[in-house]
Order: sequence, then C-alpha cells, then structure tokens
Amino acid sequence: MTIVTPANVEPLIRKDDIMRYRPLGRTGLMVSALSFGCMRLADDPPLNERLIATAIERGINYFETTRGYLGGTCQHRVAPGLKKRTRGVIVSGKGALSPDTTAYAFRHEIETQLDILGLTHFKFYQVGWFRWSNLPHLLKRGGALDALRRAQDEGLVHHIGFTGHDQPENVIRLIETGLFDSVTVPYNMVNRAYEPVIRRAAEIGVGVVAMCPVAGGMLTHASEPLREALGLDLPTPAMSLQFVLANPGVSTACSGMNTLEMLEENVRTAREFDPEKADFSRMCAGLDRLRERLGTQFCTTCNYCAGCPQKLSIVHFMIAWQAARAFGLTDWARKALADLPPEKRPERCTLCGACETKCPNGIEIRRRIRELQEMNL
Ligand code: SF4
Ligand code: SF4
Repeated sequence: MTIVTPANVEPLIRKDDIMRYRPLGRTGLMVSALSFGCMRLADDPPLNERLIATAIERGINYFETTRGYLGGTCQHRVAPGLKKRTRGVIVSGKGALSPDTTAYAFRHEIETQLDILGLTHFKFYQVGWFRWSNLPHLLKRGGALDALRRAQDEGLVHHIGFTGHDQPENVIRLIETGLFDSVTVPYNMVNRAYEPVIRRAAEIGVGVVAMCPVAGGMLTHASEPLREALGLDLPTPAMSLQFVLANPGVSTACSGMNTLEMLEENVRTAREFDPEKADFSRMCAGLDRLRERLGTQFCTTCNYCAGCPQKLSIVHFMIAWQAARAFGLTDWARKALADLPPEKRPERCTLCGACETKCPNGIEIRRRIRELQEMNL
C-alpha cells in the first residue's frame, strides 16, 4: 500500500466560479459548501458513476461514505465514480466502535474500506455512531485510538472525526476532548437540537458536517408556514439548504443525493447562496415562532418514551404530528404514516399511557396519537 503523508498531499480541488468553499475547522482545508452523502445511492452503477463524476466536476470535494450502509454496498457504489478522480477530494470512511474493538480490528476496517474505495489514504476517517459512553472504548490501551494514531503516523489517515446522535451536551463534551477535527451531526429547519454543538465547534475550531439538511426527505414537501417563517419564496429543498448554510458554524451541508436533477439543483443553491447576505438570526426567529405554537411541548426525539407494549415507534408519531402541526408538512406526515406497516400505525395504540409518564417534556402523547388517528393522516 502506498504511503501518503499529509505533508505531501495534494491541495483540495477548488472551483470558485461554480462552488463556494468554507473552512473545515482548524484543519486548514477548504471544503465545498455542499458535500455528497453517499448513503442514498441507488443500485444503478452507470448513474452512480455519473453522479460522483459530475459532483467532482461541479466542485464538490467532500464525499461521506459508510461501508455498512445500503446492505454493505455503499462504498462499492461510490468506488467506480472515484476512479482517477480522487486527487484533491476528501472521501471519508467510518468505523464503528464496541467495547471489544481492538486496534487490530479497527486498523483492518480502515484498510478494508481503503481497498473497496480504491484510495491510498483517508483524508478523514470517522468514528461512527459515537457516544460519550463509548469514549473509554476508544481510549483504551490497544484500542481504536491507538489504531487511528498509528494510521496517522503512517499517512493512512490524516484527520479524525466522529458522527453520532448522542445528546447534544454529550457531543459537546466529546468535541471538547480535542481528539477530533470534525463532527458530523444532523441539522435542518425542523431539527435544530445540535445548534449548541455547532456553536461550540465553531468556537474551538472543530469542523461541522451537517447531515440530513432536508431531514431525510421531510423537507422536500411544500410548506407555506416554513416559507413565511424564513421569508423566502423558494422550493422547500432550496430553502432547507440555505438555512443550513446560513449558520456560520457549519462547514458543509452533506446531502444524500441520488439523481442528477437533485445534484444540479443543490449545486445551484450552494453556488448562488451568499451566506454573508443571509440573516441567520431572522431565520431562526421565524422558525422559533413556528415552534412556539407548541409551547414547551416540543418533542426533541430523545426517545425516552420507548418501550411501547404494542411495539409502536412513538418518536415516529411525534415527528409526524409536529411536522403537520408546527411546520405545515402535512403531505409528508400523511405519507410517512401511510408507509408504515399496518401493525405499526397510530390505530394500533391502545392509549394505555405508559409512554407519557416517561416523557421529560410532559408531552400529551395520547392526545397527539388520537389526533393522528382522527385526522387519518
Ligand atoms: S399510549 Fe399508545 S403509544 Fe403509548 S405506550 Fe400505550 S400503546 Fe404505546
Ligand atoms: S420522550 Fe417525549 S420528547 Fe422524548 S421522544 Fe418521546 S415524546 Fe418526544
């Protein structure tokens, strides 16, 4: 395997006439405002190759990949498009951590992913699905951090980041360890829970990769309340991307794309949107007003209410209810519930109330579920 050290690595591609670039924390790297999340690629090799090649042509220089996604084929779907195009491009890999993860196993995973992707090194490698409670597993002697440090010494990995959905206060504690150059967290108009993380990351020079800018497809549906809140007369996906990029702490908005139309539309938005001219505080105030309609009863998707005797996903219901009630995304809510198998739908709730006692926000879960039943969303 060829060793490539950070000292002699090529600069990242930069096409200022067609893409905007932002600093990736304190790394000195300038990353494209729009990055490519590869976890939604279809099982269509010619299309995937064209998508990756076109994205690089359009100045995108960050691709996020995960071996385990798409039934283990994610990186195989990406690799052909990267062939002979990896100069100046970050392709991040990701490895999971368990109490039993050894340095040997973590190193083996890094090498496996490099082989699949056809890369000589990772400019970024991420500890995936990371949480504060897993920190001892990372730090243990002969564990994953030892593997990462050695890989850095050898030039196989240049920078280390992590991804995760832990509580925001725990994610802040993790970035404050100083171990990481970047953090990847979900962030969009309807999920702003990680805004304090983004603020803190900006203060201490940790790059922020904002994933799910369109909330897994929720923000592809029309919404008059969102338009009014942001004061933008734009389709919801463009508005969503603008909102994420208006946050000065975000390094790049990582969108999962699988059609050329989606790619071109997002590239256009990233190019045309000037964050200097955006009024981020006004956007946040508009979204806060929508949220205030719910008072303190805002579901933070903490999942403390889990454990329904009917095996229902209460979070799923609360997200649908809020999307419809607070954000005007009724079409999305209707579709999200219709896509559930019959045994998982709101009608199966017996209104026993076991979930309500666990909710720290005192949400009247049963009332919301009843409304979902009555509205037949
Ligand atoms: S009220 Fe409904 S959702 Fe909540 S625990 Fe009971 S059956 Fe499950
Ligand atoms: S416990 Fe409450 S806030 Fe947390 S996911 Fe359930 S309903 Fe939402």
